[in-house]
Amino acid sequence: MSRLWNVAVVGATGAVGTQMLECLEERDFPVGKIKLLASSRSAGEVLEFRGKAVQVEELTHDSFEGIDIALFSAGGARSEEFCPSAAKAGAVCIDNSSAWRMDKDVPLVVPEVNPEAIAGYKKKGIIANPNCSTIQMVVALKPLHDFGAIKRIVVSTYQAVSGTGNKAIDELRVQVGELLNGRPAVAKVYPHQIAFNCLPQIDAFCDNGYTKEEMKMVNETAKIMGSDIKVSATCVRVPVFFGHSESVNIETDKKITVQKARELLEDAPGVELVDDPAEGEYPMAINAAGEDVTLVGRIREDASVKNGLNLWVVADNVRKGAATNAVQIAEILVEKYLK
Ligand code: NAP
Repeated sequence: MSRLWNVAVVGATGAVGTQMLECLEERDFPVGKIKLLASSRSAGEVLEFRGKAVQVEELTHDSFEGIDIALFSAGGARSEEFCPSAAKAGAVCIDNSSAWRMDKDVPLVVPEVNPEAIAGYKKKGIIANPNCSTIQMVVALKPLHDFGAIKRIVVSTYQAVSGTGNKAIDELRVQVGELLNGRPAVAKVYPHQIAFNCLPQIDAFCDNGYTKEEMKMVNETAKIMGSDIKVSATCVRVPVFFGHSESVNIETDKKITVQKARELLEDAPGVELVDDPAEGEYPMAINAAGEDVTLVGRIREDASVKNGLNLWVVADNVRKGAATNAVQIAEILVEKYLK
């Protein structure tokens, strides 16, 4: 029998953590012991893994004894504080927060795009998962980049509330109910009402006028695909529960026709081409929710530049944008590196 691995899920009660447990089950990851960690608020709660009840424990610096892989999704502050303790105890951390993504000693990995980067995990014992909006964009663009070298990307996102976690999912649900019943919407998670609205702010504003989310797309894309690619991003929160959508415009060195782009994407790992406008078929968040593939469609030549293409890219932010990507990394890690 092949080896089993002891896995800790940090933030197990959250939107990503609960999905992480499902992904480990669905993908039949060789889990030996599983340890579920969260804050003292949910310590003692019981979750199910592979049909068995598992009690949630409070995250402490001593939580990682005997753990081989620690999947972190409990926010940046927790990752910053606890990944080093986990690594010191011998676990490899796969972190969903933004805490370590731009650290030069931490690989930033999307398995369909730069799996070879995982080899760099030894420096700190940490591998970072990119931001959800970045992941789906680079999955869709890598096959095009390999053919025609992307020089510039202009992206606008339409991001689901689940990207902010369980409290935001509740906020949208409650606001819709209140407004439909003629009562005012109360905004606690977001700075303004999200129900029946679009917010052109995700995360805090930086000095340059962009938001942190927008700068994550700029910096992370360069780290994963190469610093020659320039990115201009506008990130918008929309009243959708699951699935981020993106309008992506690219300029390439070499001409890529619509036909060629479709061929390249049809064969690309992790991509599903949904591009039959005559039949009304294009990617939609409701079709991406619950799936692991990145849907790409609405491919058109951009006639305003020499070598330009427009695409519409949609994926489940909690799955491919977080949990699935992390479990895919863990799969490569145990197959190629830990053994
Ligand atoms: P969430 O639903 O709010 O869940 C947060 C989790 O973190 C909960 O399990 C919570 O436990 C735990 N936590 C909070 N404070 C803690 C503390 N002091 N000690 C230990 N555990 C603590 O948020 P989420 O959407 O799952 O996001 C989690 C992380 O993943 C964030 O860093 C986020 O940026 C990243 N991420 C999320 C997405 C997405 O689509 N949602 C995508 C990519 C990356 P309690 O139940 O005890 O509060």
